[in-house]
Amino acid sequence: MRPHHLFLALATLGITGMSHAAVSPVLVIHGGAGVIKRDMTPAQEQAVRTAMAHALQDGYARLKAGGSALDAVAAAITVLEDDPNFNAGKGAVFTHDGSNELDAAIMDGNTLRAGAVAGVEHVKNPILLARAVMEQSPHVMLSGTGAEAFAKEHGIALVDSSYFRTEARWQQLQKALKEDAAKQPHADVETAKHFGTVGAVALDAQGRLAAGTSTGGMTDKRWGRIGDSPIIGAGTYANSGCAVSGTGWGEFYIRTVAAHQICMKVTQMRVPLKRAAAEVINQEIPSMGGNGGAIALDAQGHISIPFNTDGMYRGWIGADGVPHVALYGDEDDGTAELPAPADSVAQP
Ligand code: ASP
Repeated sequence: MRPHHLFLALATLGITGMSHAAVSPVLVIHGGAGVIKRDMTPAQEQAVRTAMAHALQDGYARLKAGGSALDAVAAAITVLEDDPNFNAGKGAVFTHDGSNELDAAIMDGNTLRAGAVAGVEHVKNPILLARAVMEQSPHVMLSGTGAEAFAKEHGIALVDSSYFRTEARWQQLQKALKEDAAKQPHADVETAKHFGTVGAVALDAQGRLAAGTSTGGMTDKRWGRIGDSPIIGAGTYANSGCAVSGTGWGEFYIRTVAAHQICMKVTQMRVPLKRAAAEVINQEIPSMGGNGGAIALDAQGHISIPFNTDGMYRGWIGADGVPHVALYGDEDDGTAELPAPADSVAQP
């Protein structure tokens, strides 16, 4: 194969590692999809909106300062992991056995490097450990006690497991256990309560994309269950033309390889971002009985935030530097006014 043929082949696959001309940075985040009704107290709702805005501003500040898409993704997710209103880091859901087992992944679209951790119980910010796995280990995914030993060696903050506990999540587990005992359909699985996982996708001024996701998984999970969030291609994926973070019933995201599938549609099949994301999130996953949403971003800064649930905590920030946050399904998140899907054909 001649060199330029090789380059074209790699470009088609979205793996040239090529940077784009200076573009306007964009950051998109989610705080989980599910049944999101207007039943929060005004104070609770304000706390969620404030945390989302803070995550957007923190991540965007990195982008404006010339930081990478990876920096922005890690910064935004760290804010949400530290906030007890989300199912990631502090505030993570409980397993059947009453522990918190956290999963996270991060991916650099420019180089296709990725890092992930699964089932960690003492890592304050799993997204930072995932990034360390990517940057400081020869591996992509570490789990459990081995991942924590790696964290210790690399100066990643460890905490007592009691740090993650919130009363609301504990009560959620008690309810699920009662339903288990009564052999009722499991609320979190069957009726898709609000999942609460967090994720971010970013495009930096050099045109590089990144994606990250962090979660406690699903309430009452058992047997070391690992969801889609830390699985590269399922809940998290980025290449040079597309970045995706998913949230929802993870088994379906794994089976449809949801995040990778969206990106392949965009970078290989040249499907506009919004259509690519909608085909997976609004058609394929619900047709199989799954549910959830995703945030997706392409290399031109087009944003897509599809979900097939009542609502999804979501937000984005772009050229005007103003955080846009929406929680409910019928709430305008401002993405409709952005350029039409037909304009968003990727140019890897
Ligand atoms: N996708 C996550 C999982 O299945 C849950 C979520 O998105 O909230 O672990």
